[in-house]
Amino acid sequence: MRKTLVVGNWKMNGSRVFCASLLGELKARAPWSSDVAVCVPFPYLAEVGEQLAGSAITWGAQDCSEHAQGAFTGEVSAAMLADWQCSYVIVGHSGRRALHAESDALVARKALAALSQGLVPIVCVGETRAERESGQTETVVRRQLAAVIDCLGERVAEVVVAYEPVWAIGTGLTATPDQAQAVHAALRTQLAESTAAAADMRLLYGGSVKPDNAAELFAKQDIDGGLIGGAALKAADFDAICRA
Ligand code: PEP
Repeated sequence: MRKTLVVGNWKMNGSRVFCASLLGELKARAPWSSDVAVCVPFPYLAEVGEQLAGSAITWGAQDCSEHAQGAFTGEVSAAMLADWQCSYVIVGHSGRRALHAESDALVARKALAALSQGLVPIVCVGETRAERESGQTETVVRRQLAAVIDCLGERVAEVVVAYEPVWAIGTGLTATPDQAQAVHAALRTQLAESTAAAADMRLLYGGSVKPDNAAELFAKQDIDGGLIGGAALKAADFDAICRA
């Protein structure tokens, strides 16, 4: 039986005051029957960790370097995230694939870097609107996941996969539960070709998840929770999604 996981992706939002206030509100609403985590901007990791230590909420970051250390100005290594007791790191978010030209292979190497430091990578995959409309959805997500499988081998069982259709992120458009389930089922089938643990892996859906659509999405057989953007910035909404 897979335990639902709900992860807030705060993106580049917040301030020290905002983080403290949002986390205070969330802690007051905990616990949940799902596992719950927040992936916050790098500068706030230390304070977020202090505030969440011993609580029902774990924390992580939104990206990491593929490199272990060295002359990589502006980069943050997985070891640094582990230093701040991060549990998770998002890799391959569509924003980074699009705005920072991150390739499938680079995303896979970042996932490997995260695993090597004991972090759980949340590997995002998803198709653009044009790719969906031209019938390419499965081809695209399978290609993105194949790069991760090639790089990690059996260790792919240790990652969380987040299916995030690009056209649904921050747009208010959501994949229907059936559309999302179809992709999740295809991803799990692909994972099963590489690991006997595919049935135990958590596959999250992300893309305009809100309190009013979360329950229907999470009820689907292969959807094990969500990666939540905008709604993770409002305590009441995030709490409702964690309870969905
Ligand atoms: C995201 O950015 O990972 C995301 C799912 O955003 P939103 O929930 O706002 O669509």
